[in-house]
Amino acid sequence: MSRFLIDPQLMIDAAQRAAQYVNGLATRQVRPDPDAVAGLSRFDVPFPNDPLAPAKVLEELDAFASPATMGMSSPRFFGFVIGGSLPAALAANWLATAWDQNTGLYNSTPATAVIEQVALGWVLDALDLPCESGGALVTGTSVAHVTALAAARRSLLLRAGWDADADGLFGAPPITVIASEEAHATLFKALGIVGLGRNRVVRVPVDRQGAMRLEALPPINGPTIVCVQAGNVNTGSFDPIREICERVKPAGAWVHVDGAFGLWARATDTRAHLARGAELADSWATDAHKWLNVPYDSGIAFVRDAAALRSAMTISADYLPTEAAYRNPSEYTPELSRRARGVDVWAALRSLGRSGVAELVEASCRQARRFADRLSAAGYEILNDVQLNQVLVSFGEPEVTNRVIADIQRDGTCWCGGTVWQGRTAMRISVSCWATTDDDVEQSVAAMIRIANEHTRAISGSRGGPAAVVR
Ligand SMILES: *Cc1c(COP(=O)(O)O)cnc(C)c1O
Repeated sequence: MSRFLIDPQLMIDAAQRAAQYVNGLATRQVRPDPDAVAGLSRFDVPFPNDPLAPAKVLEELDAFASPATMGMSSPRFFGFVIGGSLPAALAANWLATAWDQNTGLYNSTPATAVIEQVALGWVLDALDLPCESGGALVTGTSVAHVTALAAARRSLLLRAGWDADADGLFGAPPITVIASEEAHATLFKALGIVGLGRNRVVRVPVDRQGAMRLEALPPINGPTIVCVQAGNVNTGSFDPIREICERVKPAGAWVHVDGAFGLWARATDTRAHLARGAELADSWATDAHKWLNVPYDSGIAFVRDAAALRSAMTISADYLPTEAAYRNPSEYTPELSRRARGVDVWAALRSLGRSGVAELVEASCRQARRFADRLSAAGYEILNDVQLNQVLVSFGEPEVTNRVIADIQRDGTCWCGGTVWQGRTAMRISVSCWATTDDDVEQSVAAMIRIANEHTRAISGSRGGPAAVVR
């Protein structure tokens, strides 16, 4: 009789618990259960001496941790910019985890190396970016920035006669970095990591939606990276990418696009115009774990000059075979050892198809519009121009808005976070989950308005006037 390496019953148990968890998301409260959170101290025990059967390990995890999780892939989670997990992507992720392929080299992991290469090509196709670009499947947009900026740094300095990868940055000609006042925090972190500095960036003012003001863009002198944004994390606004590229590219600047979620507008007919001109850039950073709805963590860097990306990320050692029929993923990524995260991306794209990706993005945008319309009809002010999937709403004075947000989170029907947008305290609603239905939106917006009205009525007191007068 053959011996099981793993008891199929254990995997079935895991699958049943997982399916129950995911299917329970539609009805459970989105926030973690407070008692379960208090009970997490159960995990805080000294390292046990004795082994525990795998089935018991799983049982413990599910019993004590599952209820203490945030329902992040809930159809009514609208915090940050998150997205859920498409069934095909989640299931493929499990299978690929069982394969346990260290996807660095084609020769040792041909199946996942080929699938990743195909997935990258499909993403370029979906986003209508230059098909010759080199790609790297990384953990998220943060590392995609690092990867792309390393290629940018290399290229610009080579043109100035300096090999930064070989000789480092000490004594190198300076690179000017330009980004808007509204560039995402991860861009500055990445700039620090690649030695271009968080604080020496030339910041360009933005308009009321957070888009870079073209007329404020400084002239380009010497090696320069211009970082533009497709999709502001608060408003969903886009920098005028085409105009910026037309202005700075003839002067030799490298244009890098932060399109963590906004680049996916290009997968639709109705919203592609928002990110027009992105195809003219030199590098792009985007996430698969946001709008494409693959499990965490999953981001992608693309560099038009594939050779520049490869040179910046290359690695060689006598024990690493580099000659291969397909590309070696690790020659394009910061990591050598890496999970086959492209399998999840492939599965998401394979299951949705071109039309499915477009419909996913469009549905989120329509639902964001629905939120904005309902809230504004109830008398609450929408602070942004809702073109994409982001909505900023004010419930009045900052303290009131903050109290409303806290109560909405506690109520558990849905989950939204707060922000301060150009001096105004606001609640952020980010719609990016494949599973969100119009009914989820209606349920959520009803809870929001009920809770907000309680607070605004408390302020207007016995006058009992409409919430709209209290701002
Ligand atoms: C989310 C986001 C990032 C950071 O992406 P991670 O995947 O969290 O690293 C960068 N830029 C924008 C515009 C984002 O929305």
